Amino acid sequence: MKGSMKGAVLPGNSTVAFRQYPIPEPGHGQVLVRMKSSTICGSDIRAIYREHLGKGPEGYQGVIAGHEPCGQIVRCGPGLRRFAEGARVIVYHISGCGICYDCRRGFMISCSSPLRAAYGWQRDGGMAEFLLAEEKDLVPLPNELSYTDGAQVACGFGTCYEALEKIGISGNDTVLVTGLGPVGLATLMLAKALGARTLIGVDVVTERIDLARKMGLVHHSLPFDEHALGRVRELTGGRGCERAIDCSGKDDARRLAVQATRKWGKIALVGEGGSIKFDPSPDLLHDQKTIYGSWVTSIWLMEDLVERLVAWTLHPEALVTNRFPLEKADEAYRLMADGRCGKVAVVFDEEMK
Ligand SMILES: [Zn+2]
Ligand SMILES: [Zn+2]
Repeated sequence: MKGSMKGAVLPGNSTVAFRQYPIPEPGHGQVLVRMKSSTICGSDIRAIYREHLGKGPEGYQGVIAGHEPCGQIVRCGPGLRRFAEGARVIVYHISGCGICYDCRRGFMISCSSPLRAAYGWQRDGGMAEFLLAEEKDLVPLPNELSYTDGAQVACGFGTCYEALEKIGISGNDTVLVTGLGPVGLATLMLAKALGARTLIGVDVVTERIDLARKMGLVHHSLPFDEHALGRVRELTGGRGCERAIDCSGKDDARRLAVQATRKWGKIALVGEGGSIKFDPSPDLLHDQKTIYGSWVTSIWLMEDLVERLVAWTLHPEALVTNRFPLEKADEAYRLMADGRCGKVAVVFDEEMK
């Protein structure tokens, strides 16, 4: 395909710059995806947008941004095995080497080969009119889901689902989520679909607490303060929650997640960065609790999630509070960095409604 396209890069000073690129030509095992929806992840803000803080897998190499891409295949390179022109696809946002221990488990996120490259970090991502992707990184997007549903599966929803599957959620459980940004909201949405009995959300930002309540994702929403632990215990007959997921990455909130979990309970840590300080004997050991770490997800679980979203008639798109065309990507990132919003999407064609 001849011609050029516009792409957005993040120079690192809380701005967005636009550049023109030639439309890529797919090689062997590759496809050209016409972008339909590209959502912004908290990691983009934390590690790239304000300052290029990311190292290693989070090192940003000045490429087209956006690691939650979803679109339609418009051109195929030779040697494709599953996908064809016209297919609606989600791009698992890390392209791994494909044959290391982690890639063979489907966790390309953990691939440490020098061949590993994440879309929007080390190779061009979704903030452009077209994206060059490897066929092996694609997950089919069913017709029942919109492209904006699919974009969020590419990182955010996949990440939440992985953590929830690790700790297991059932109708036995009161689930506490600390941090009600897009990842926290997605976690609540999925925990509810998995049958959680009671959902409790905690955040410091009033707008986020209000949003979770307005979207019907919490039975109880609490401001994060010195009373939060007491309030959670009050709401759970003094025992605490069966399951807790930290989506904030903040020391205090993680401690709350650990302390507010009842005996034999399970905690998943999803929020990145920061640290955690708690007293192991009273807070963990004596109560027989387990903490799980969870980083993104595997590509097979992403396929499972997509299938289940259809079965649950659940639309991640419901978390999108703001949509922008590519030309206004600077406004989109600014709003996301401000944090007083749900999920922010850059959308194209029919997704611009
Ligand atoms: Zn992400
Ligand atoms: Zn690998």
